[in-house]
Amino acid sequence: KNILVILGFSCVIAVIALIAVGVTQNKPSPENVKYGIVLDAGSSHTSLYIYKWPAEKENDTGVVQQIEECKVKGPGISKYVQKINDLNIYLSECMERALKVVPSSQHQETPVYLGATAGMRLLRMESEESAARVLDVVTRSLSSYPFNFQGARIITGQEEGAYGWITINYLLGKFIKAQNWFYLAYPESNHEETFGALDLGGASTQITFVPTRHSESEEDSLYFRLYGKDYEVYTHSFLCYGKDQALWQKLAKDIQTANGGILRDPCFHPGYEKTVNISDLYKTPCTKKFKRTLPFEQFEIQGTGDYQQCQQSIVELFNTSYCPYSSCAFNGIFLPPIEGDFGAFSAFYFVMNFFNLTSKVSRDKVTEVVRNFCSRPWNEVKTSFVGIQEKYLSEYCFSGTYILSLLLHGYHFTNNSWDHTHFIGKIEGSEAGWTLGYMLNLTNMIPAEKPISKPLPYG
Ligand code: AMP
Repeated sequence: KNILVILGFSCVIAVIALIAVGVTQNKPSPENVKYGIVLDAGSSHTSLYIYKWPAEKENDTGVVQQIEECKVKGPGISKYVQKINDLNIYLSECMERALKVVPSSQHQETPVYLGATAGMRLLRMESEESAARVLDVVTRSLSSYPFNFQGARIITGQEEGAYGWITINYLLGKFIKAQNWFYLAYPESNHEETFGALDLGGASTQITFVPTRHSESEEDSLYFRLYGKDYEVYTHSFLCYGKDQALWQKLAKDIQTANGGILRDPCFHPGYEKTVNISDLYKTPCTKKFKRTLPFEQFEIQGTGDYQQCQQSIVELFNTSYCPYSSCAFNGIFLPPIEGDFGAFSAFYFVMNFFNLTSKVSRDKVTEVVRNFCSRPWNEVKTSFVGIQEKYLSEYCFSGTYILSLLLHGYHFTNNSWDHTHFIGKIEGSEAGWTLGYMLNLTNMIPAEKPISKPLPYG
């Protein structure tokens, strides 16, 4: 009887052990997982992204996942010139979060990168010394954590465009083959071709895609060999054409012909009023070309909410009167004819998402929605959308009109190219933006040649 009990007991132990082995075999053990951290120091805010991937599949496409986004409280780092010491604690909350999310055994080998974009490019134009000081404090702050800090730098507009393009095509599985979910989401798109990338920040905007013809402008061309395939990519970053700087440009242009200290502005709702300091207006290098001596120190914006007039005013920011190439965007910048599908992300997505216009909506429908929204009285808008930051809410009329104007008049999108533009926030949980592509590149995770192992886990 005793022998039977012992045998039965052993069997139970054996079964438990087998189950345990099975469970741990399916789950990669902690040592086989790697982490990477990228901070996107944008013009209006900083976000920290944590990525995770299985170490043994490092060179496969689509294996890196974003596991966390931490939004840093406060404005972008370029706004800290006058209060530089506040930068010491600026990143601490998100870095503390990173210390918790990444297992401590992995801290030392986890790389941390900080890339600053157009807000810092503009600050550097005003004062190299101020920009260097900001980066210095940020570098010192990030070096104090137990991670493998790899440096803080201002990335170029070309890099911003290129890494955004790499990110979305990596996540869409375009470098190897389209993933299953993607076929279902975009059945009409060409599965072989890469997506173009449209990125809209506060201070700059990027357009990046593979054109059919060779580029006429070397400085807008990039050559990549990714997973055994060559790509010739067109990219251009338009500094001062992010949505915040475009608005400053528009105000500086329109105030020249305004009546006294009042600017009746069609891009704001009827009943909306806001006082603007001339010193703030002329603080940015983006308004330099409109700078005049004005007989007042402040002016008042009074909204009139007229989409048509707002669009007319915005279009004046795109100078299309000259083009030294066979085709241009605006301001004499080369742009090949638009073709293929595009993923439009960051502020393109935030704004279209506010309007509920991210899923397949015609250009006419979008125009109608934005037109109606602009004409609504500010008081009514404020009570209809409680909980949305007032700064964003008051500017959605301008932002929606700006997106339409930039794509249709700045980049000459046709109705067909509009129909092939997809407003994307995240792809399978990872934010569309330049940070993932930047990390993939700096950790050498995108091989030039095809990986030998089969890409998993996609079918
Ligand atoms: P940047 O800080 O340069 O990356 O630019 C981000 C842009 O997106 C800025 O113009 C922000 O004002 C804008 N933005 C961020 N979140 C939202 C939101 N929820 N709605 C509208 N605009 C946003």
